[in-house]
Amino acid sequence: MYQKNVWENMTPEKKKAMFDFNEGYKAFLSAAKTERLAVKEAEALARKAGYKCFCEMKSLKAGDKVYFINREKNIVLYHIGKKPLTDGMKVLGAHIDSPRLDLKQNPLYESKGFALMDTHYYGGIKKYQYVTIPLALHGVICKTDGEKVYVSIGEKDDEPVMGIGDLLPHLAQEQMKGTAATFIEGEKLDVTVGSIPLEGEEKDAVKANVLKILKDKYGVTEEDLVSAEIEVVPAGKARDYGLDASMVMSYGQDDRVCAYTSLMALLDVEDPEYTACCELVDKEEIGSVGATGAQSVFFENTVAELLNLAGETSYIALKRCMENSKMLSSDVSAGLDPLYASVSEENNCAKLNYGVVFNKYTGSRGKGGSNDAQPEFMAYLRGILDRDGVYFQTGELGKVDAGGGGTIAYIMAKYNMLVIDAGVPVLNMHAPWEVTAKADVYEAYLCYKSFIK
Ligand code: MN
Ligand code: MN
Repeated sequence: MYQKNVWENMTPEKKKAMFDFNEGYKAFLSAAKTERLAVKEAEALARKAGYKCFCEMKSLKAGDKVYFINREKNIVLYHIGKKPLTDGMKVLGAHIDSPRLDLKQNPLYESKGFALMDTHYYGGIKKYQYVTIPLALHGVICKTDGEKVYVSIGEKDDEPVMGIGDLLPHLAQEQMKGTAATFIEGEKLDVTVGSIPLEGEEKDAVKANVLKILKDKYGVTEEDLVSAEIEVVPAGKARDYGLDASMVMSYGQDDRVCAYTSLMALLDVEDPEYTACCELVDKEEIGSVGATGAQSVFFENTVAELLNLAGETSYIALKRCMENSKMLSSDVSAGLDPLYASVSEENNCAKLNYGVVFNKYTGSRGKGGSNDAQPEFMAYLRGILDRDGVYFQTGELGKVDAGGGGTIAYIMAKYNMLVIDAGVPVLNMHAPWEVTAKADVYEAYLCYKSFIK
């Protein structure tokens, strides 16, 4: 079903299935506010579906369901198929990190009677969007004795939120002359965390009081924050969007929308021919670097572990498995926005409610850095989606020379596997509150399931 509005032939049964699926999606978004939490949620959903940690496996046969977790921030799951691994796999990949603010290594300071925490933004944000909105803190503080303290404040109704101040319009004459890129500087994105001075303390008494709260609640000292990873994210749950509740508004839909739909497709698939895989990676928003990003050898190592357990220990078996695989690299695409239609080319842009979107290429300035998928692979996918009646469209990330972006597709294509970008169109991408259409979320899930079954 190419370039058709999903709502044109909607049945009551399909509408119900779609809305029900999106309830699960919203619950996932509300719980998985960071990559660590996304891994935790994914593991819980997988275990409920009968998946086991690879560390529990003694042998491997068709039908087995296993997962690997890498440093709490990257998970790879497999449903072993009937065909040998060397015939290749069907891989679904998405990223679970999202743009946000991270606390610096030495974050806490006091100024003018307030305690504040210094941040460094992560990924591409419009900085002005982060001021005067409720923010939550999530993350981990690692102590020298090996203990890990998990922190989460600002999501529950009875918990306080944090925030970043902005100037009142009455006194903002100078500020308003700046450009949107510069009038909120990165160093101004400091989070207010307190204003009560600690009794009996003379210097930096408000900061001292915050440290006392951290000590009482979490048992940590200021120095422990040096070995912490705390993320500052928009506080609040995923909500329905629009009077007709046709859309979802939430933080972190880039790219947890593709992560959730890929994961659910894998968990729901029955008896796959080829081994089906879902890989959820970290660090995409800063270049897929680091041990938990798509460029890490972790994914390749998990395949080697599977082959080893299946009795295929040669190097060439690993190479064949990778090269014979097919992958949907799933990431969001820019949806056509009625307020900003001028940055899109209407015949070649993604539209909300038109289903899963394929990007043959991404990149910028002449497809720079793009995977540029094989047309044979696109033809193969069209065949599958037409067979199963899945709604799909094609798009590019905006007009030629309007800008651009990248995904993990080119990284996996290095194994010489067939890879194409497939995902969900998003409005307000990288803003604190992003918007997707429920119809597209559901079609993405159906597409991923058709691909791996
Ligand atoms: Mn993305
Ligand atoms: Mn992104």
